[in-house]
Amino acid sequence: MRAVNGLLIGAMLVLISACMVPSAKQKASQPITYTPMKTNVRPAPRFKLEKPSVLDETDPEKGPESSAPAAPNSPDKIVRVLVLENSKSAYIKHSGRVNIYTQDKSKKYKISTAGTVSIKPAKNGQVQVGTLITKQPILIEPVGDVTLTLDKNGYTGTFKVVPNANTFNIIELTPLENYLYGVLPYEMHHTWALEALKAQAVAARTYTLKSIENKSEEPFDLYSDVRSQVYRGSAQVYDSVKKAVDGTRGQVLSYKGELFYTYYHGNCGGGTDHVSIWNEKAPHIKPLAGNSCKFDTHSKSYTFKQDIAKSLAEKFARTQGLKGTLSSVKISKKTATGRANLLTLKTSSGSKQVRCADFRIATGIRSCKITKLTVGTTKIHVEGHGYGHGIGMCQDGAHGMAKQNYNYKQILKQYYPGSTLAVVK
Ligand SMILES: [Zn+2]
Repeated sequence: MRAVNGLLIGAMLVLISACMVPSAKQKASQPITYTPMKTNVRPAPRFKLEKPSVLDETDPEKGPESSAPAAPNSPDKIVRVLVLENSKSAYIKHSGRVNIYTQDKSKKYKISTAGTVSIKPAKNGQVQVGTLITKQPILIEPVGDVTLTLDKNGYTGTFKVVPNANTFNIIELTPLENYLYGVLPYEMHHTWALEALKAQAVAARTYTLKSIENKSEEPFDLYSDVRSQVYRGSAQVYDSVKKAVDGTRGQVLSYKGELFYTYYHGNCGGGTDHVSIWNEKAPHIKPLAGNSCKFDTHSKSYTFKQDIAKSLAEKFARTQGLKGTLSSVKISKKTATGRANLLTLKTSSGSKQVRCADFRIATGIRSCKITKLTVGTTKIHVEGHGYGHGIGMCQDGAHGMAKQNYNYKQILKQYYPGSTLAVVK
């Protein structure tokens, strides 16, 4: 289950990242211009939605398949994903013909057969792609079903190589649905029941479109790692993933006519919680207000026992103004589901109340649904339920529901109550 755990960590971190300032994780020397979405601001939706169906009022019966809004025939939105960052050297393998040209198309050439193109920074802020040297972004466009391979990951979209000081970035321009082929298997195990994968596809699609709202002035829309959603290209597609993505093509969740951040996580430990305990600035909306969950107990992640290094907690305590040796960690406030909301840390220099959500990220405890916590000499022993922040969709619960023949609309209704399934135009 190591791989699955890895995926769940990925899923958890994706959602952690959604409320973090992305620049904080970037290399300080060469920051990429990026403005994080302010989650307390609700801009006008960039995407027009049609064919809404309120999940609360549909599908009262179980069923392996559910009716869905009709998929649109319009072309996909193009998603701009940062696939390589601040690099000084890269080799792109192409399986056949590629067109290589500057952004203004003043310089261009083509390579008709399979091969490898090298990329490196050039003097005076230029970049070199194959034989082309310029200060402009350079595009590498695969023709037909040609794929581009970078670091063993295969991509089907066009690469945009952007000079950045004495390095360069590569941004893939890829249609939304193709992008989802390359996200889903890293956010949920591809062998899981189809209806769970379909719920995940709708959640990931909504999260993507919400993330890229009002980003037209930014150089890219999404990172390809935990800062957005993990993505490793769409050249290799699992059949199950293709079915899940194609079977929900264009479908998103909305609330009061707007997309929202469809947060999800590994395992809620028996109940999800209100988004405010994890991200104070997030809109307080019904779909993210929490719900019961009785479908996740089958998973190994439902309960955990864990030892973390005490030094990690002490390091976190110092960022909160508490120096010295940590003597105790007590839960000072819990939610109705039993998730610790606030903790009181006590050290030799004093005590302070902190958000468990912050403590979890700093120390790597699996969940704030803590049932036992003891501070030892060098370690802190923690026991509890769940994996991740506990907001929005519980992935293990989604899998549990799918195994009991609930369909994806029912799964989404369970974890984003009051939301509306719509098709993005
Ligand atoms: Zn759950």
